[in-house]
Amino acid sequence: MINKILKKALNKKSLENKEILTLFQIKNPDDFKKVLDTAVEIRSENKRPIKLTSTVHMTNQCQVSPKCKYCGFAAGTSQEGYYHSFFKQDQEILEAVLNIEKSGIPRVSCSGAHGFKGKHAVKAAQIVKENTSLELLVNVGSDLTESAIEKLAYYNTDTVCCNLETVNEELFNRLKPGETLQQRIKVCEMVSDEGIELSSGLLIGLGESYQDRIDHFNFLRRFETLGEIPIMGFNPYKGTPMENHPACSLEEQMKTIAITRILFPEIRITVPTPTIGPENVKFSLMAGADNLATVIPDTYPHTVKGVGSPVFGNLRDVLAVINEMGLKPQLNKQEDSNHYENNIPQTIDSK
Ligand code: SF4
Repeated sequence: MINKILKKALNKKSLENKEILTLFQIKNPDDFKKVLDTAVEIRSENKRPIKLTSTVHMTNQCQVSPKCKYCGFAAGTSQEGYYHSFFKQDQEILEAVLNIEKSGIPRVSCSGAHGFKGKHAVKAAQIVKENTSLELLVNVGSDLTESAIEKLAYYNTDTVCCNLETVNEELFNRLKPGETLQQRIKVCEMVSDEGIELSSGLLIGLGESYQDRIDHFNFLRRFETLGEIPIMGFNPYKGTPMENHPACSLEEQMKTIAITRILFPEIRITVPTPTIGPENVKFSLMAGADNLATVIPDTYPHTVKGVGSPVFGNLRDVLAVINEMGLKPQLNKQEDSNHYENNIPQTIDSK
């Protein structure tokens, strides 16, 4: 049964919902490996290097109230996270993006909390695009107006991310009581209508069913400019209402990444290093991901607390994993990239 479904996927035929459900329900380790191998084979047909995306967190001052129950990013939500309120000055954003560019990382995500009608996103886009050659993803959730999206397009923002997290509306309302799913869908529609590449992902392990994930995949197909799907495994942040909810298992994350790759052969599949855990980056690549996010160079000028968990992937370690696996990272030839390429350790210690 599994062989037949995977062969169908390799032959570029669409899978039916019940076939996708069969993939999610696999228990046998041999079948699990077959799903991963199929995802990697599909990724290799794209012949693209593994993209690296660094990050700038613009602000954690979030006006959403009540706060999302899992959030450890917004000010005051978790002592493990940033906790104290911050709003980065233009100069600080500039220093960070210049540092990222110098490291050879080709892409930056500028993300921030909700309550500024996208003005912070537009400012970041201006700073990035007027001062660097970095590809830019902006993620301020649903805090975007039509006018802000037009301005993001004006500054040649490459990608705008608005994660729906889950399309199970009852679950969404329970976990994100200060937001609505409709607001997020509306932003995805506006981004797509503006012709900007849309990134929109799944937060998994929140209590959603496999059918919810399948419905989510089917829902995403409506957005014409969908170019990226982040798969984010839930991790509990201490001090939040969900601190006792179990973390999403690595196996569940790998399976979901692989199924996403099988269903969306051409799409960039992003795994943030904080959600899978920096020590597990190789497992996301074994499942068919082709973009690692929240990758931070040694010389990065600011403290970073990952969204979804406080840890993050260091550029040197991430490059070592990619090289060890015989894959090719997308790394620009900059001053520091030579340094990184020449100093990649042969083995990685698990932290
Ligand atoms: S997850 Fe985002 S929108 Fe929700 S409270 Fe945290 S910063 Fe605000």
